[in-house]
Amino acid sequence: MPEIIDTPAISAATQAFLESEQPLLINGEWVTGGTGGDLDIINPATGESIATVPGAGQTEVDAAVAAAREAFDRGPWRTMGATARAELLLKLADLVEQNMQILSELEVLCTGMPMTNAANLAPIIARDWLRYYAGWPTKISGETLAQDPFPVPGMERFLMTRKEPVGVAAQIVPWNFPLGMTIMKLGPALAAGCTVVLKPDEHTPLSALFLGRLIQQAGFPAGVINIIPGHGHIAGAALAEHNDVDKISFTGSTEVGKKIIEAAKGNLKKVTLELGGKSPFIVMPDADLNKTIPMAVQQGYFLQSQNCVCPSRMLVHKDVYNQFVDGLAAGADSLMIGPGLNPETTLGPLVSARQLERVQGYVQSGKDEGAQLITGGDQLDRPGNFMRPAVFADANRDMRIVREEIFGPVLSVIKLETDDIDEILVQANDTEYGLNGSVWTENIGTAMRISAGVRSGIVGINAHTMSDINGGLGGYKQSGWGREMGEESLHAYLETKTIMMHY
Ligand code: NAD
Repeated sequence: MPEIIDTPAISAATQAFLESEQPLLINGEWVTGGTGGDLDIINPATGESIATVPGAGQTEVDAAVAAAREAFDRGPWRTMGATARAELLLKLADLVEQNMQILSELEVLCTGMPMTNAANLAPIIARDWLRYYAGWPTKISGETLAQDPFPVPGMERFLMTRKEPVGVAAQIVPWNFPLGMTIMKLGPALAAGCTVVLKPDEHTPLSALFLGRLIQQAGFPAGVINIIPGHGHIAGAALAEHNDVDKISFTGSTEVGKKIIEAAKGNLKKVTLELGGKSPFIVMPDADLNKTIPMAVQQGYFLQSQNCVCPSRMLVHKDVYNQFVDGLAAGADSLMIGPGLNPETTLGPLVSARQLERVQGYVQSGKDEGAQLITGGDQLDRPGNFMRPAVFADANRDMRIVREEIFGPVLSVIKLETDDIDEILVQANDTEYGLNGSVWTENIGTAMRISAGVRSGIVGINAHTMSDINGGLGGYKQSGWGREMGEESLHAYLETKTIMMHY
């Protein structure tokens, strides 16, 4: 597998940002210092510290929630005209467009993702999604329910509904695709008229903090967007249980998602959760392998497979099994491993030394439980959190690598011994998760039957990751509650009020 060592220099603007102070954004002001312990931001490609960010503790959480509460209850945001809110979102999108280079570089420096196939997409997605959400404030409306099914003589009734913002939204963002997920959460909340306290992940807060500067420049009223990086068990937990937070949106592990539900019950805040996955990638005997195998490699190792929709469970029909496994291994072997800043890199380091250790544990368990390691899996002997992408064949449902979310470049292939679609669906659905899935076939009937039968929030037909903002991202089973993206994400930030009139 080719390895790249050379790391190009970052731009002067990014360097200047890294050398500047990184305060928290609370109530439209930059607050230096935090009571939740400093966050040492480490470049995963080198293991070196690149910045120190104050971590929010209870004091900063309380201040940020109070600012968002004040901005919602008394500030101009909720009552501002829909076009004025839309214009601010559009202005922010323009500022993102003017700062793409720095945003991409910050994503690479914190997460390790390659510039070429991921980090350069992040600000493009951020800009486009902000523009998409800017279209919504002017279209939020209720209904008129004029027909009374049980009329009462002498009393006519008229019903209508209004859609109103849910209030103060706390948003907890993970480390794997920070800028994209930040906008995926901010966009619908702001379009709906909510105010926000955003907590970026403790490993990857820099793009959100830079976005904070653009938010200030765009002119959002004070307190509408507060950005407070911090440790999950401190700042995240404090937000989840805060009585003045009306809604919490969380993306991360299923384990922490369950803690969020527990913490949120104090004031019964609304909860949406986008959690883990173990998505099936179902290859039928008539699949066009010339398209299927490159997509398996591309989607399987996107973001070093630290990706909730990763097709980490490949179910491949026996007729094409050997050809698929060989192709997948060759594809894995062709990835260029190196620092994300190098434009030739297609597989970067894992986000942290801890994550690398976790994933190495899965490689060992795959070997111990009898799966066949076809290629990769070993850690590279160099600074940074690098490992070779692994392909396991002859995997089965009882193995941890098949049952658990690995969140690292380890793909498992299971042989499908049957032609029976019902049986294939039983195997595809044999997981506690239900986030994503895909079927690869040239037969429209097979495609429709399998896509209808897979129990997950997204299913691709000759496609895997859903990248259209119009769709909904979210899961069945233990992959979460509710949907992000699309119109449905907006409704997660809205309450429905029924107004009844007698006349
Ligand atoms: P995590 O769930 O611990 O962290 C995600 C976010 O939750 C971070 O912002 C973190 O600060 C916050 N958090 C942590 N504990 C919290 C708590 N008690 N209350 C409130 N917020 C809290 O994820 P991780 O430890 O960074 O990664 C572990 C595993 O989680 C990964 O290997 C992967 O399986 C999964 N994960 C999934 C996604 C996803 O997109 N679905 C993203 C990140 C991680």
